[in-house]
Amino acid sequence: MSEIYIAREKLPGIVEQWMGRYRLFGPVFQGQYHEFEQVKQPGAVDLDFVNTKLSPKGLFHPQAEKMFEFTLDKQNPEAGILKEIPRDYSERVILGIRPCDARAFVLDDVNFNTNDIKDPWWVRRRECSTLVGLACNDPCSTCFCTSVGGGPFDTAGLDVLLVDVGDGFVAQAVTPKGEDLLAGIQGDPMPGEAPQKIEDLKKAAEASLGKAFQVESFTQKNMLDLFSDPLWEEVQFSCINCGTCTFVCPTCWCFDIQDEVSEDKGARMRLWDACMFPLFTYHGSGHNPRGQKLQRVRQRFMHKLKYYPDKYGNGVACVGCGRCVKACPVNIDIRQVARLMSDGCVCPA
Ligand code: SF4
Ligand code: SF4
Repeated sequence: MSEIYIAREKLPGIVEQWMGRYRLFGPVFQGQYHEFEQVKQPGAVDLDFVNTKLSPKGLFHPQAEKMFEFTLDKQNPEAGILKEIPRDYSERVILGIRPCDARAFVLDDVNFNTNDIKDPWWVRRRECSTLVGLACNDPCSTCFCTSVGGGPFDTAGLDVLLVDVGDGFVAQAVTPKGEDLLAGIQGDPMPGEAPQKIEDLKKAAEASLGKAFQVESFTQKNMLDLFSDPLWEEVQFSCINCGTCTFVCPTCWCFDIQDEVSEDKGARMRLWDACMFPLFTYHGSGHNPRGQKLQRVRQRFMHKLKYYPDKYGNGVACVGCGRCVKACPVNIDIRQVARLMSDGCVCPA
């Protein structure tokens, strides 16, 4: 796979070039934090960030999405017929995505794109997107990707990996799609010291992350033993079921479908939902299998750390982005929960 060097001052020109050919999405500073959004001005892309507040999953699975429209007007021969909302599937480039977030899409594919079930909107958005990642030279204290099978320079899910080597970026193609993207760019001469610089940056980033917990120490435990363990009393105690952890998480994919009707016009909406909310599992019969907070808190962590790996054999459903650790208003930390699941202790491994 090919590799080119882009001098730092040339990057805005390349962004502009991509904007002329593709829809371009990237991290944009919003005053207090960075978010992924469609870029309107080349200078708006800001790669000087650690991580976005919300993960970029909304680019593939929007928080609120109108799926269909319908009319209830009985005079209309199309009354009650669902009409799909047109979507833009033209080619797009998502620039600056972090390795953990790109890996999350691979983990989420088992829900949206399997041999049996294909979510057409997820699949088509994945197909029309080229992911240009940005290696993490300086992970923050809440990151733990290396503990869950990833890494700050990991390429899973990416088409191109950019590494910031100081005066510029080394762009490495990872897939044929990435090759095609780089083929359209005029690179600069590669500095001789770049390969060693990348090795050094990678080693330093990985060393700064350490090991938050040993995945095998709880994935190999018996599911029912973990399910009935008293540790959930301790974990659920301070949780206020606000759902923040699920909304910021790149591997939380739950949604609800609701019809919104005004007079004789309606829209079928798909909206993010969360296992932390009591209504999520509320049955029409009035029964709620997860009516208690403990059941909901246990579901979130067991799904990520036990049910998912047991079902798919694909590692845990957490990429270690640390967003839930940062955002939880009562400081519940999934690393501590994992350690409790391992050995009943919150001390680092
Ligand atoms: S569970 Fe937390 S750390 Fe893991 S992927 Fe989700 S938000 Fe990131
Ligand atoms: S963010 Fe914290 S308090 Fe809110 S639902 Fe998640 S674990 Fe509970």
